Amino acid sequence: MHTYEFNSSISLYSCNDFSKSVNNEILDIKKYNNDIISIDKIGLSIKRKPILSIKLGNGPIKVFINGTHHAREAITTVLILDQIKYIISLYKNNSYIYDIDIKKILDKVTFIFVPLVNPDGADLVLSGDKCYQNWKANANGVDLNRNYPTQYPDEDTVLIPGFKGYSGLYSFSEPETIALKHLTEKYLFDGAISYHSSGEEIYWQFNQLNEERDLKIANKISNETNYTLLYEEKPNIGSGYKDWFIENYQKPSLTIEVSPYVGENKVPIQNYKKIFEENKNIPIVFANEILSTY
Ligand SMILES: [Zn+2]
Repeated sequence: MHTYEFNSSISLYSCNDFSKSVNNEILDIKKYNNDIISIDKIGLSIKRKPILSIKLGNGPIKVFINGTHHAREAITTVLILDQIKYIISLYKNNSYIYDIDIKKILDKVTFIFVPLVNPDGADLVLSGDKCYQNWKANANGVDLNRNYPTQYPDEDTVLIPGFKGYSGLYSFSEPETIALKHLTEKYLFDGAISYHSSGEEIYWQFNQLNEERDLKIANKISNETNYTLLYEEKPNIGSGYKDWFIENYQKPSLTIEVSPYVGENKVPIQNYKKIFEENKNIPIVFANEILSTY
């Protein structure tokens, strides 16, 4: 049974007070679902905007889902809010996704969602100011998904702060990446998904020891979304959350790029319906795959 009913958060995407509206929406979700949701402030952005996490479920297996490392990719924040509301509605209806019982999986798995890693950046893009419409970085001009330390970092091609590609003076120089570092150290996630846009692609490699296990999981997610699974040259290179997480914890982690390719732009709102349909089941399907590795 696939009963679900909820109001999508997509209207926030046209809002010029985006991060504040997202945080209000998170408080609202909490208010109406106090029994199964808790929220935490995991840090403050450069402009001192709260970065919130949402915890759903009570299980020993911890799954992390984050969105909008990149400012112009805020459609992924909307997606994550809707994923949370969708899962809650299934839970309240005693529903299933395929043969997966939502009530049972929430006894085995705890989800931690951070829908908006980069509130300052998203606000710049969605403010409508033309100067910032293709901004990816945070308010310091640091590309947050190049600010994580790995043994095989991206080669620095951008040497000064700007709209994209600048990795920062040192790894974890930014409050937003430090917030995710501390959160990850606290929960020691068993798997993690970072949502990005665009290209309908899935990155899953980072020189991991157990490639077979992670390929199986990535394949499942590729089948579910119809997004292309990418195979990268070895050694895999990168300084993103996924790269750092795999290298340090040797647990499965994906970067999922939603939406058909849109170039140096934010994803148009009309792409959203398809994105949601392709990704609504992903948290549960991913968690179920993680469970099957134990
Ligand atoms: Zn991105």
